Amino acid sequence: MELIRATADLTAAVDERRSSGADIGLVPTMGALHDGHASLIRRARSERDVVVVSIFVNPKQFGPDEDLSRYPRDEQRDVDLAGSLGADIVWAPSVEAFYPPGVELVAPGPGPIGDVLEGAARPGHFAGVLTAVHRLFDVVGASAAYFGEKDAQQLFLVRRMVEQLDLPHTIMACPTVREPDGLALSSRNAYLSAEEREAALSLPRALEARDRALLDGLEVDYFEEADFEPRVLAAAVRVGDTRLIDNVVLEGELS
Ligand code: AMP
Repeated sequence: MELIRATADLTAAVDERRSSGADIGLVPTMGALHDGHASLIRRARSERDVVVVSIFVNPKQFGPDEDLSRYPRDEQRDVDLAGSLGADIVWAPSVEAFYPPGVELVAPGPGPIGDVLEGAARPGHFAGVLTAVHRLFDVVGASAAYFGEKDAQQLFLVRRMVEQLDLPHTIMACPTVREPDGLALSSRNAYLSAEEREAALSLPRALEARDRALLDGLEVDYFEEADFEPRVLAAAVRVGDTRLIDNVVLEGELS
């Protein structure tokens, strides 16, 4: 397993493998890896010749009052874990390597779907996500990229970007991995106290029961149906200082 930081080194490493015929799979993450990320990496491992895991806490997708500075980071653990799951390359660029100063990057517009639900609660979030995903796709040049259904709106917008810009990447959707009690795994779960962790369980329960009333006592950003192909019931709540999102599919299969 190779840990790479410089963009030119990543491009060289991937180009070399691609030129010998290897099929590249990309798993974009913001680190603080958990079993949800692990499921994406394992799936990429089983389907591709070469697996690249990116670890980049993308500042462009955080609002000014959000948790960028306290977002959990444990790079050494992440690198070891990605390696043990079969990643060939971990790309962990600095912000300057990812967004070279003075270079104007493609900034795909998320359109109106970028302004509802997560986008309404987090203005500019999806523009930041798509800029980073486009940059990742551009640098890594993978044939397939793996995303989680937990971020259903993100998955929908990434798919739409690929379609509209005619990008040569296949988007693979992976089911949400949950704790045994139903809470969706998230790097942000690390912020929760034991009491908050208990309260957070209302989120999967309310979604499963399709019953907003089960969120009583929590601060609810939204609890709404949306057609992210397929239709989902999506919700975001704040538990203490922690914001959690989740969704359930109402029809069909995301993948
Ligand atoms: P993040 O590091 O939170 O940006 O997530 C990186 C990728 O992992 C995204 O495609 C997420 O949708 C996916 N992911 C996050 N949590 C889960 C989960 N519990 N199950 C499956 N995929 C997940």
